[in-house]
Amino acid sequence: MIEISGLRKTYRSKAGDVVAVDGVDLTVGEGEVFGVLGRSGAGKSTLLRCVNMLERPDAGTVSVDGVELTGLRRKRLRLARHTIGMIHQHFALLSSRTVAGNVAFALEVTGVPRAERRTRVAELLDLVGLTERAEAYPAQLSGGQKQRVGIARALAARPKVLLSDEATSALDPETTESILRLLLDLNRRLGLTILLITHEMTVVKRICTSAAVMRDGRFVESGRVADLLRQP
Ligand code: ADP
Ligand code: ADP
Repeated sequence: MIEISGLRKTYRSKAGDVVAVDGVDLTVGEGEVFGVLGRSGAGKSTLLRCVNMLERPDAGTVSVDGVELTGLRRKRLRLARHTIGMIHQHFALLSSRTVAGNVAFALEVTGVPRAERRTRVAELLDLVGLTERAEAYPAQLSGGQKQRVGIARALAARPKVLLSDEATSALDPETTESILRLLLDLNRRLGLTILLITHEMTVVKRICTSAAVMRDGRFVESGRVADLLRQP
């Protein structure tokens, strides 16, 4: 579902170049939950942002669902991005809109006609367990509920892949557990492929089938989580 080959990304500035991703190869199969683990500055976020082309890599290829994104022009890329949803540590909800309004906005941006939006909002809120909070405003929600809105919004375009950028890092352990359980549930029910980055081994242990450890822009270890844990 995700194929990355020879990926490199360098940030250039007057202070000097930073090679954030330095030759990463990665294959994530359909329905897999893949974790990239590493310390701050390892290049995880840059790698993730190259998967949906928020950053343009300077070398290598990225394909998602059989489409090579690295070769696409802007218009085609915008359509291809519908196969990819993303969630973040900071939820970036629209504070002036209700929970339903936030999800409806994502549907609107995706091009879902007004007539269908109401049903789709209801479906998405049901999927993430927020039906009761549809009319609440973000300021009235707990962190876990905010992340559920973030997840509903990310699923608006019916993506096949969900990218998670430290989605549970701002949450307490109990809320983290409930969000991870939701992600696993979506993985199983929708067949959603998940690529997540985290600095927490517990997250990888809890939901990932395979994982890689990233350091200085490279994968220093990767494989099935069970095998990685067995190593000395
Ligand atoms: P991680 O997500 O593992 O913390 P990042 O991908 O954010 O790692 O960062 C990798 C390296 O790239 C770090 O040295 C960071 O300082 C640098 N970096 C990240 N984003 C930028 C940017 N927009 N401009 C310049 N350097 C950046
Ligand atoms: P606004 O567009 O001003 O933010 P709302 O937040 O009230 O308006 O609603 C935005 C969208 O969400 C509309 O398309 C509306 O049909 C839908 N919507 C509002 N409440 C619900 C609900 N409880 N269940 C499903 N859809 C809803």
